Amino acid sequence: MADADPRGGPRIVFLGPPGSGKGTQAARLAEELGIPAISTGDMLRAAVAAGSELGARVEGIMESGALVDDDTMAEVVRERLRQADARCGFILDGYPRTARQAETLQGILDAGGDRLDLVISLRVPEQELVSRMASRGEVEGRADDRAEVIRERLRVYEGTTAPLVERYSAAGVLREVDGDRGIDEVAASLRELVA
Ligand code: AMP
Repeated sequence: MADADPRGGPRIVFLGPPGSGKGTQAARLAEELGIPAISTGDMLRAAVAAGSELGARVEGIMESGALVDDDTMAEVVRERLRQADARCGFILDGYPRTARQAETLQGILDAGGDRLDLVISLRVPEQELVSRMASRGEVEGRADDRAEVIRERLRVYEGTTAPLVERYSAAGVLREVDGDRGIDEVAASLRELVA
């Protein structure tokens, strides 16, 4: 990956349906690269756990499998990317998820004279996603991994987030990775991709 950005990098976005393993892989790759993995889902779950005003606002939405509104997410992400540790690169996991969020991210990056280096699309067949999420729900007890919500989250991904693949492909920054493999194999592919 070429990185001519004098302000560091890389700046990476992970795209992938729920259950694709993007959280696991984003965290791992970020650690290897020495940059923060920024998971908007984790940030929102932390807000819920802390009982903050934001948490109270998003809790029901998250439990239903729907998306939190773009303006709220813009605030969350703008604030997070302003932190010092994100100035020299980051991996965004779970943002952007809509065309408007992609515009917002573009605006934030443009304002700082930065750019996205890479968008990674993790591909996993739907049947595998459903069974992974179902077992995660049993193990971790995530409210939005209940069976009745899983299909809704996949539907939202297909309808609203998947079109971003096309956008980033057209921008020349997209790389697709087969996520239907063991964690270490996928991690090795990702490591090669950013090398
Ligand atoms: P995740 O852990 O990334 O699957 O996110 C869990 C839930 O948090 C999602 O189903 C949404 O309700 C909410 N969420 C996380 N990131 C976003 C985002 N970028 N836009 C809207 N909602 C989000």
